Amino acid sequence: MAAEINKLGVVGAGLMGNGIAHVAALSGLDVFMLDVEAAALDKARATITKNMERQVSKGGIQAADRDAALGRIKTGTDYAAFSDCDLVIEAATEREEVKLKIFGTLCPVLRPDALIASNTSSIPITRLAAATDRPGRFIGMHFFNPVPMMRLVEIIRGLATEDATFEAVRALAERMGKTVAVAQDYPAFIVNRVLCPMLNEAIYALMEGVGDVASIDAGLKLGANHPMGPLELADFVGLDTLLSVMRVLHEGLGDPKYRPCPLLAKYVEAGWLGRKSGRGFYDYSETPPRPTR
Ligand code: NAD
Repeated sequence: MAAEINKLGVVGAGLMGNGIAHVAALSGLDVFMLDVEAAALDKARATITKNMERQVSKGGIQAADRDAALGRIKTGTDYAAFSDCDLVIEAATEREEVKLKIFGTLCPVLRPDALIASNTSSIPITRLAAATDRPGRFIGMHFFNPVPMMRLVEIIRGLATEDATFEAVRALAERMGKTVAVAQDYPAFIVNRVLCPMLNEAIYALMEGVGDVASIDAGLKLGANHPMGPLELADFVGLDTLLSVMRVLHEGLGDPKYRPCPLLAKYVEAGWLGRKSGRGFYDYSETPPRPTR
């Protein structure tokens, strides 16, 4: 059993993978990050360098810390480099068949005592674990975007996850400066289970004409002291992502209270996905963004 995690593998060099590599390297871990796309690795290294540069200019870290951390991150496309990792965090595209294929290639090269964590937002940890050769040494480690800024990590135990796996991963999350919320393996875990139905409800309120975009967002910002209004936050999360979490909750728990709002589905069908497509509940071609309803 790897009691302390010193060498970390990361599969997937996208938004989350590069953030995880960034924070791990600054915490003193050696990191090997892999992606199917060599271009994604170059982009990730450039993003990490730029983000660490910002931390240096704001006085959060020293230039020497940045240089040492960047030196600890190696990247490549060959799984053989995972052979001396204590833990590999999978942060690849949110498709079950993609993740299962990755575990199929990863497990044979890993040490038998090495751990695997998945950063999945919505696929059951127990089911992913069962597809590997080590369900006891498999766990969910759910980071939040942007990883260097967000202080929470949800740790999700699968049915078979061993206590030693949980303790090693909790110690790692704390070493990375994060606060841990321990979740059981139910659909969408804790944060999205509570947050997404609230955003969905705000969209029902809009659909039913209870209020317009400006009133709903002002209402929650000023009346409930939320830093962002729910429709603004839905645009930030991505309306396609929100719809897929609502479907996971609805199908996984079977309770009609989780039914995705038809207006949300309509926005996604229109390609109005929020900030990333330039239009959602707000039109981002204008400054400040203008409510679209
Ligand atoms: P992303 O699209 O930015 O990055 C995914 C990366 O995985 C891409 O670089 C892609 O090339 C790579 N990839 C695809 N197939 C691969 C394979 N077979 N082998 C290796 N790499 C492969 O996605 P993301 O937002 O970073 O999400 C990654 C994971 O993190 C998903 O499981 C997602 O649910 C989860 N997550 C996302 C967020 C978020 O806010 N974006 C938050 C928490 C968790």
